[in-house]
Amino acid sequence: MDPSESTIIKNTMESMTPIECPACGHKGMKSIVSTLDLPMLGDALETTLICPKCGFRTSDVMITGQNEPVRYTFHVKGAEDVNARVVRSTSGTIRIPELGILIEPGPASESFISNIEGVLMRVMEVLQGLEFGEGEAAAVEGRKKEIEEAMNAGIPFTFIIEDPFGNSAILHEHAKKEVLSQDEAAKLKTGELILPLK
Ligand SMILES: [Zn+2]
Repeated sequence: MDPSESTIIKNTMESMTPIECPACGHKGMKSIVSTLDLPMLGDALETTLICPKCGFRTSDVMITGQNEPVRYTFHVKGAEDVNARVVRSTSGTIRIPELGILIEPGPASESFISNIEGVLMRVMEVLQGLEFGEGEAAAVEGRKKEIEEAMNAGIPFTFIIEDPFGNSAILHEHAKKEVLSQDEAAKLKTGELILPLK
């Protein structure tokens, strides 16, 4: 958890649940539920399940007062803008068209509360962890350079997050929020929800 995150946590509760671990089948996972107070959005619930046997962990976030499918769009134009806080639930899709970045929900989806710079750092980590053929290495290096430049706000870009359940958001006064139509929401991937949050 990044230190700035602690300022929005109101309360944390730990307990044991009878839920079966999806990784090893062990019955009984530790549950950590935090109530959060998000700037501009109010109450949210962050739930993490941890398997005491194999260490598998999964988490999700639910924004209490936002239930409709949403899209947030934010234009990053200066160095300050990459500090904009992002809430991404496991059902959140992130797009940065200028950098060719698409993060969609999937079996290994992670929820997180971070800032735009943190999201770009995650993308860099993924790129660093992948293995590429000789022909692709140069393209990947080029992509990494672009992302680094974007992190320093050298390239303006658009950060978009969409969520069919309204559990993702960009917490910045200049982020534009739109409610998606049912058609638009139906086109989004939802991922595999392990936690019965809604
Ligand atoms: Zn396990």
